[in-house]
Amino acid sequence: MFDSLSDRLGGILDRLKKRGALSEADVGEAMREVRRALIEADVALDVVRSFTDKVRTRAVGAEVVKSVTPGQMVVKIVHDELIAMLGSDAKPIDLEAAPPVPVLMVGLQGSGKTTSTAKIAKRLKDRVGRKVLMASLDTRRPAAMEQLATLGKQVGVETLPIVAGQSAVQIARRAMEAARLGGFDVVMLDTAGRVTLDEALMAEVAEVKAATGPHEVLLVADSLTGQDAVNTAKAFDERVGLTGIVLTRADGDGRGGAALSMRAVTGKPIKLIGTGEKMDALEDFDPRRVAGRILG
Ligand code: GDP
Repeated sequence: MFDSLSDRLGGILDRLKKRGALSEADVGEAMREVRRALIEADVALDVVRSFTDKVRTRAVGAEVVKSVTPGQMVVKIVHDELIAMLGSDAKPIDLEAAPPVPVLMVGLQGSGKTTSTAKIAKRLKDRVGRKVLMASLDTRRPAAMEQLATLGKQVGVETLPIVAGQSAVQIARRAMEAARLGGFDVVMLDTAGRVTLDEALMAEVAEVKAATGPHEVLLVADSLTGQDAVNTAKAFDERVGLTGIVLTRADGDGRGGAALSMRAVTGKPIKLIGTGEKMDALEDFDPRRVAGRILG
């Protein structure tokens, strides 16, 4: 996802490292190049501006000017600020609540929501031994309900039996009740997606949220859609409130703008990234590791 950005930044910073002394003009020129590279990677403009301003301010400060290796100091500043922009620390899914813990999955249709729901359920079962129940609340698309049931069988996670004619809230309540009776630790609620953001979708998600009190509300967003993914996250957060983001298709040839802007624009952490279609293609999003990957 970051290949092109990584090449560009690598070139700029390598040239900087080779210089002996650094003037303010040198730093300014390098920051203009960094700015262009970030804009080409589809990073939100405000985020680019704030990032380059912070690096420039620190890089023309005393710590760098007096240093014997000023270029390397600037590279370290870029590295630090990149980590800060990505959200500093990894933020795993938080399940610290009385079981059954509801986790609400929201997002647009096609973002990878159902796939990610099953991937997360599998991971919770395999890695931390949680007993997970999944339920599809997509009352308009029977195929989506069946897709979740199929994935459930594939990963060995139970899904709530499908009952025709129930509303999303009724299904969510039934899932919570079944989880209580069945001694489940976690209930993954896969809400309906729509092709576009609309009020009906938001109202339904808000209603399900009010009825179940989820501990996590995770937006699934497609990294290939760039700034649209960030805007979708902003809209969902303002309307229903999110606790984190799952960014899918990180294995695709996206430019990285969604991953780089998400935290700064929405204030919400990317918790996980989808890296393929297979059920174990899910990784923690660790800002330090991602910054390391970008800067090589
Ligand atoms: P939903 O409509 O949001 O529930 O989307 P789905 O979960 O049905 O996913 C739509 C398509 O995207 C499916 O073919 C998935 O296999 C695929 N998909 C989901 N996540 C990823 C990912 O991280 N990488 C890749 N390459 N494909 C993904």
